[in-house]
Amino acid sequence: MSTEKNDKLKKLRDELLLKRKNGRAVVSEQTLKNTDAFCEDYKDFLNASKTEREAVSTAQQLAEKAGFLPFDINKVYRAGDKVYFNNRKKAMALCVIGTKPVEEGVRITAAHIDSPRLDLKPNPLYESDELALFKTHYYGGIKKYQWTTIPLAIHGVFCKKDGTTVPVTIGEDDNDPQFVITDLLPHLAQEQCQRKLSDGIKGEELNILIGSHPITDDEGGDLVKLNILKLLQEKYGVTESDFLSAELECVPAAKARDIGLDRSMIGSYGHDDRVCAYPALRAVLDMDKTPERTAITILADKEETGSDGNTGMNSAWLRYFVYDLAKSQGGDIHHALANSKCLSADVNAAFDPTFPDVMEKRNASLLNYGAVITKYTGARGKSGTSDASAEYVGEIRALLDKNNILWQHGELGRVDLGGGGTVAMYIANLGVDVVDLGVPVLSMHAPFEVVAKLDVYMTYLTVRAFFGNALTN
Ligand code: MN
Ligand code: MN
Repeated sequence: MSTEKNDKLKKLRDELLLKRKNGRAVVSEQTLKNTDAFCEDYKDFLNASKTEREAVSTAQQLAEKAGFLPFDINKVYRAGDKVYFNNRKKAMALCVIGTKPVEEGVRITAAHIDSPRLDLKPNPLYESDELALFKTHYYGGIKKYQWTTIPLAIHGVFCKKDGTTVPVTIGEDDNDPQFVITDLLPHLAQEQCQRKLSDGIKGEELNILIGSHPITDDEGGDLVKLNILKLLQEKYGVTESDFLSAELECVPAAKARDIGLDRSMIGSYGHDDRVCAYPALRAVLDMDKTPERTAITILADKEETGSDGNTGMNSAWLRYFVYDLAKSQGGDIHHALANSKCLSADVNAAFDPTFPDVMEKRNASLLNYGAVITKYTGARGKSGTSDASAEYVGEIRALLDKNNILWQHGELGRVDLGGGGTVAMYIANLGVDVVDLGVPVLSMHAPFEVVAKLDVYMTYLTVRAFFGNALTN
């Protein structure tokens, strides 16, 4: 082929074909430096915030440091004011008031801060064959076998009858004990290994080992259990009935770590969805310019169980928060949401070379290719989807390109294989324009998930730009 012909082809290719690029090969040294710095802070957040309660508590501390004040329904807020609303210590809205009235529309970035885990049952403690154990009820979608024989920590609260709340964190400090769910040795697992993988460990087999020391050598049963209750009373002032009004969550005890010899990735519990919640939080905290549109970061609870309940996005709290903001400015509350736009910031499944068959590669998200826009979610024929309009996706894609932000598109796996959803539909159902955008994850919902650092930073840049506070990149 002649050179002339070659040049022509190259030009056509450049002009016409969709290009997807590994970001680490094309971004500047400075961007990689910024990425690493941002991800060090993200790892700290991960380690300090393993539950929704802890994420809200950390977010509130950071917000107060950044000058945010608790939302007061009787106040009139002006451009540049910074407020937060703490919903029952498990969900939160953080907001910077814009120069345009709320009635003309706000910009919402919503991410969830709950993650799959094992909750203790209301009456969890029992003794069997001189070992003490906790019964659990898993929360969210897990592959149960993944949760055995790994170090576990317990986080949560006891709420006692006298109205006091006792916080609990055991298993994180290097001097703390940890907990574990036992599994059969291979030598005796012949029958277990014939079970289907989904039944390899059953729900009622997720029992956490918590003690083996009997209180005395007296006759009588449950001496190990009694000793555990004595230790709990000494440390937390609680009795067995206090478990009835507690929320105790078992989570992996491992800390966030760099993954890979090149340190390009992070392994951690709870990337889904702190990996979007943290960029969304930082974006609203770091705003140095008063935005035109009021910027709201939502940290949502209960996404992993379907978003129902008064701290989930399928409840009235976001709607009333925006109504209250609009009303305080004398605006029309009904137009505020119809004029609003939202990024539903949640993870997508990254392409995994070990399991290529579950993906359709042209439409799968890849590690290091940037923030992933997921136009629609759902299962089978897009059932249960929130499908962003072409107009809105066009607007977001233009915004990202304008600000030189690395991004990609992605679907959640092969058609008819499975599927999933996010909070997008609940916000879209309020009349808001919503599109899903977030970070690709390997081993999603496992006790130790993996993300690429560059994708985390690009998600931060995306939310900054969406909030009218783009960083020069
Ligand atoms: Mn999620
Ligand atoms: Mn999830």
